[in-house]
Amino acid sequence: MNFQFGVDYYPEHWPEDRWETDARLMAEMGLKVVRLAEFAWNKLEPAQGRFDFAWLDRAIGTLAARGLKAVLGTPSASPPAWLIAAHPEILPVDSEGRTRGFGGRHHDCQSNPTYRSHVARIVTALADHYGRDTRVVGWQTDNELGNSHDDLCHCRHCKKSFQDWLEKRHGDIGTLNRNWGTVFWSQTYDSFSQVPTPMLTLTAHSPSLLLDWKRFHSDLIVNFQQVQIDLLRARTHGQFITHNFMGFHDLIDYYNLAAPLDFVSHDQYPVGFWENPPYRSPAVLASALDLMASLKEKAFWIMEQQAGPTGWQILARTPRPGQLVLWAAQSIAHGADTVVFFRWRSCTVGTEQFWHGILPHNGVPGRRYDELKGFVGAMAPLMPRFEGALSGAEVAVVHSYEQNWAFEIQPHHPELDYVKSAQDVHAAFHDRNIPAAFVSDRADLSAYKLVVAPLVFLDLPGVSERLKAFVNAGGHLVLTARTGVKSQSNVCLTENALPGPYGELLGIDILDYDCLRGVTVPVAVGGETGQGRFWWDVVTLRGAKALAAGGTGDHEGEPAATSHQFGRGQATYWATLPDEVLMGALIDRAVADARVSSLGASDAGVELVRRRAAEGDFLFALNHSAETRTHVPGPGWRAVAGGATLPPYGYNVFFRPKEVSGVIE
Ligand SMILES: [Zn+2]
Repeated sequence: MNFQFGVDYYPEHWPEDRWETDARLMAEMGLKVVRLAEFAWNKLEPAQGRFDFAWLDRAIGTLAARGLKAVLGTPSASPPAWLIAAHPEILPVDSEGRTRGFGGRHHDCQSNPTYRSHVARIVTALADHYGRDTRVVGWQTDNELGNSHDDLCHCRHCKKSFQDWLEKRHGDIGTLNRNWGTVFWSQTYDSFSQVPTPMLTLTAHSPSLLLDWKRFHSDLIVNFQQVQIDLLRARTHGQFITHNFMGFHDLIDYYNLAAPLDFVSHDQYPVGFWENPPYRSPAVLASALDLMASLKEKAFWIMEQQAGPTGWQILARTPRPGQLVLWAAQSIAHGADTVVFFRWRSCTVGTEQFWHGILPHNGVPGRRYDELKGFVGAMAPLMPRFEGALSGAEVAVVHSYEQNWAFEIQPHHPELDYVKSAQDVHAAFHDRNIPAAFVSDRADLSAYKLVVAPLVFLDLPGVSERLKAFVNAGGHLVLTARTGVKSQSNVCLTENALPGPYGELLGIDILDYDCLRGVTVPVAVGGETGQGRFWWDVVTLRGAKALAAGGTGDHEGEPAATSHQFGRGQATYWATLPDEVLMGALIDRAVADARVSSLGASDAGVELVRRRAAEGDFLFALNHSAETRTHVPGPGWRAVAGGATLPPYGYNVFFRPKEVSGVIE
């Protein structure tokens, strides 16, 4: 169920006599779907049990008269003041024991049974009212789950829920003590009721407790969503359920959050927030989109695509003419079947007064409306042709939330960041116009020729077996430093030398290592000299051959990368974390060994992306530069949007039918 383009709309922010003008302007722009009501709890239920859906009925009716369908958000991200006044125990408690106050959004504890009962009531009432309304095509659960809950919650309900979760995971307290190694610093527990949440303490909590806390926190939010999904599924007919994800946000295991949804939606803000000016790189933007495609291994929606300057207290740069269109085209190129712009009209009140929409504050269509209207008119007719299609990547980069959490707890080197490391690998493929998917460490890898799994620190159930089977069957696998170090309980493995369960696969032992504080190690490979960063494993070859070695310095002559034949495939180890130059050289080598193909060379700043549809391949050329570029794909391609010339921030689309593109592996 796809609509190509839509917009997020807050009719409750505007006088009702404006709604018809808004609906007309939306329809004239070519929009087909509108998300509504995800923060409207108080308007929908102004007092406990007193519902008012009449205004939303009229808004949906006004939109429907112009051919616009509705997606309704469940409003659980904004519990109203009357609810908090009646039940202040709903407010969350932070790790310093402070109760956070009403205001902002998501000032709630997601395990609190009172809060959950109120959420269930409003979701049930909405589903009963709209669950068979054909003007409503689907639902969004909550809003950006995990956003606003970073340090929360440590209330008595969360503590009890955590203890119950631990009992389920470990069985009995003796097993937990053994799994965590609580003999250290006299932390042995007599019962689950003694186990704390990781509140402020004098030094640092046990890494095993911290990892289980992160797992619990993720499971709690997944369960918070599941309660709503169950209510909606039981009361709706022919309507989808989705949620708006936030790229590489790390609080929830997104693979778990995505599992019960019909499809994933994503919020894409390329200028980001005021913390990371001025623009996110095209590779970083692409990585978030490719992660979204990986969550259910299917095409997705953008539920919030940037439509103007962004900011709250501080503002980011204003997108240049063409950039909003370019970024929307990039989302579509990477697998979005519907793009919903955030928001319709810049609001005049509240925290997001300067998080601008398509229309300015005065509501008069201007540059942004005209640019996006032109884009919708050109792109919408093409989109059904590649609906559901993904890139057909031959390469995958493993992304694991549990590995990321383990490195958030113990990064080793202050600059070592799991997500950044995965994005750096993805960027190396992106820079070579090689489609690269992300995959879960639970995924079937058989569709890929080359898999890079950075920092497989924890030995999680089934992962080493799956990676070995992939290589044994002919796959090319790259593993990196800090692999095979710990158990799933976050304690060090002792059965083998490092890299633990991967020694036989890689044909190496690691008997010593060095955290590269304040130094890097030069490594020459493929005619280039890059640097090993953050970490250096001192590798002993046990059947593998060295691909490169450390240059002058403490690690001179030691293997920097190794390669080992295993079964019908090849297992490569990077004994360090490469900088961009070294990464590029090592990726070139891996790509050649695994016979992975690129979409071709492109001018500087031009990104090439493919959607492999049933009738053939669609190739997007996206010019992220402020200069005019050209892109002429090889024989067999014809332009279906634009031509060879790419104006500044321009995009073109080419098509090659299946019989010309040849065999599809
Ligand atoms: Zn709580």
